[in-house]
Amino acid sequence: MKGTRKLFVKSFGCQMNVYDSQRMTDTLAPEGYVETATAEDADLIILNTCHIREKAAEKVYSELGRMRRLKEEAAANDRRVLIAVAGCVAQAEGEEIVRRAPTVDVVVGSQNYHHLPGLIARAERDGHAVDTEFPVDDKFDHLAAPSRAMTRGRGVTAFVTVQEGCDKFCTFCVVPFTRGAETSRAVDKISAEVERLADAGVREVTLIGQNVNAYHGAGPDGRPWSLGRLLERIARIRGIERLRYTTSHPLDMAHDLIAAHRDLPALMPQLHLPVQSGSDRILAAMNRRHTRADYLDVISRLLESQPDMALTSDFIVGFPGETEDDFAATLRLVGEIGFSGAFSFKYSPRPGTRGAEMTDQVDEAVKSERLHRLQRAIDRQQAAFNRRCVGRTFDVLFERPGRHPGQIVGRSPYLQPVQVEAPSSLIGAIASVTITEVSSNSLFGALARQPALAAAGA
Ligand code: SF4
Repeated sequence: MKGTRKLFVKSFGCQMNVYDSQRMTDTLAPEGYVETATAEDADLIILNTCHIREKAAEKVYSELGRMRRLKEEAAANDRRVLIAVAGCVAQAEGEEIVRRAPTVDVVVGSQNYHHLPGLIARAERDGHAVDTEFPVDDKFDHLAAPSRAMTRGRGVTAFVTVQEGCDKFCTFCVVPFTRGAETSRAVDKISAEVERLADAGVREVTLIGQNVNAYHGAGPDGRPWSLGRLLERIARIRGIERLRYTTSHPLDMAHDLIAAHRDLPALMPQLHLPVQSGSDRILAAMNRRHTRADYLDVISRLLESQPDMALTSDFIVGFPGETEDDFAATLRLVGEIGFSGAFSFKYSPRPGTRGAEMTDQVDEAVKSERLHRLQRAIDRQQAAFNRRCVGRTFDVLFERPGRHPGQIVGRSPYLQPVQVEAPSSLIGAIASVTITEVSSNSLFGALARQPALAAAGA
């Protein structure tokens, strides 16, 4: 029996990383590692990094400076602390991390988490270990499956990775380089994982992937299944009341996926569909492989299938060569669709991408001014969407206690946080709530009637 050691994992970036962090924790549990909430008392610290934001690698190096001091303090007290860097920065920087930050013991790329126990043993023996190869074996076949005991306590919602990597090569994006080519997990393995989650009290599952709607995993019949078909299969799992998926590419919104929004009551009426720009010229420069008209067509088919949808998107402003006319086309697209929210960013070059080599970079002040205008337009749409919810009654899945005593917080079908005065025994239950008020980001409501479901785990 291995002695108990404490593990602290700090996750940066997207939901894929949050999911990966949990799976790393699960994989290290049989090695005697238990999670701790603070880096100060950990024996192993893992930074699970993200490469999407500007200066991501620099932020990791500065965080490593803080970790080095913790490690030195522990060494002064005769305690050995190991530091591992995982995720997309690890994948992109590899050996360079150990060269620039010798305090790091393990560097593990995003496809190699199942090698962690071996890498830790190697680092303890040899000083350090680096593994950023894209392996031929599938990490999901080797990572520990979340067991009932491990899953319990992680709440009533869960992410499940169904697809990884991307073959699209948008000219601003590092994902195809850091996460590799598109791969999909088999339907049976995903179903088994969701069944375990349902058994542990999870009510809502979000299927995730960098390009999730390009999913083409092997079905039980040995043929590739689409995401629409996978959702239909998962919706039949007892205990799973709600399904979502993210992040999607407009080109991969297949007919059966659009139809699933009409046919599957468990599939929530909400879709995050990045468009990035409303200008065909810029979409082509971004290598998005779709036009503004293609995007509008997908949205119109989706709304025909399910008129009651909350639509969100991602935008990049100031991509190289973007003129005021191009940006105006983006604002027009926003006006035409009416989003319930969106993420918008100034373009910043990522080393290794084609966008970084483009010569017609846009001035920073121009980018900032455009971003401000876009965000104001989106904020207005979000406020209008939220205001339209006042007086409506819909189901809310309660997830956690609220900030004030007597309050609990859940999510609407449209993914908005909803705060309600209600007993904490309703956490894990779905209840009908009438919306009475809105603030910029939250809805407030009152229970409309007793919940249809007993609290999870009861
Ligand atoms: S589709 Fe998404 S993940 Fe793939 S390259 Fe484009 S932005 Fe990156």
